[in-house]
Amino acid sequence: TTKQLIMSEKLAAIGEITAGVAHEINNPVAVLQGNLDVMRSLLGDRADIARTEIRLMDEQVGRINQIVTKLLQFAKPEEYAGFVERHDAGSVIDDCLPLVQHLLNRAAIEVKLTHTATRLIVMNRTELQQVIVNLLVNAIHAMPGGGTLSLTDQDMARDDEPGILITIADTGTGMSADVMERIFDPFFTTKRREGTGLGLSISKTLIDRQGGSLDVESTPDDGTTFYIWLPEAN
Ligand code: ADP
Repeated sequence: TTKQLIMSEKLAAIGEITAGVAHEINNPVAVLQGNLDVMRSLLGDRADIARTEIRLMDEQVGRINQIVTKLLQFAKPEEYAGFVERHDAGSVIDDCLPLVQHLLNRAAIEVKLTHTATRLIVMNRTELQQVIVNLLVNAIHAMPGGGTLSLTDQDMARDDEPGILITIADTGTGMSADVMERIFDPFFTTKRREGTGLGLSISKTLIDRQGGSLDVESTPDDGTTFYIWLPEAN
């Protein structure tokens, strides 16, 4: 439809602008990072004098880098990932788990995996992994005292359209209605310095682009479930 066309043109324009800005930010940040390294080596034995200040600057430069990388992945996905292909969701999920294994161990989290989907989906594998890893890391953050992470994939139709549903459920802190209303907003985070607030907004856009949907249910003190629905590959 015309509306969808305008939307996708707008998205493309935003992508171009974002990619341009992110590239421009990259250069000065690289200069800052390089000079911090030089300063550290110049200080040598006397590094104690400014250790805290340098560490703080280092951390903040790291943070800018993280935000810029995420923006670039989002704005120019084709440069950062392979092509759109047919995948079995279960194998993509399986590939994501080793990437967060160290976090799972640290927080003593039990993982329950249930693969039943038989339909294939069309998506860029790296992007789908990025979305799932985002959701896994959020789920783990929500269970600092341990808990259960349930991951399932199953065949499921939406409005008569065949597809698959991936659910990622945690038994963590859950969210208030106020927080839940804003989680898909760019830069919204409750994690202060550790969060970028980009994970969910980018994840939602990536899934929407494939004609899918990303939804959430959450109960404070009880846990959160994210639902990724994707259409079946033709
Ligand atoms: P970030 O993780 O950097 O804060 P996200 O966009 O991934 O950015 O998440 C936004 C916010 O949504 C988080 O700061 C957190 O408050 C909330 N959130 C996301 N996932 C969960 C979850 N599984 N349980 C509780 N809160 C969550």
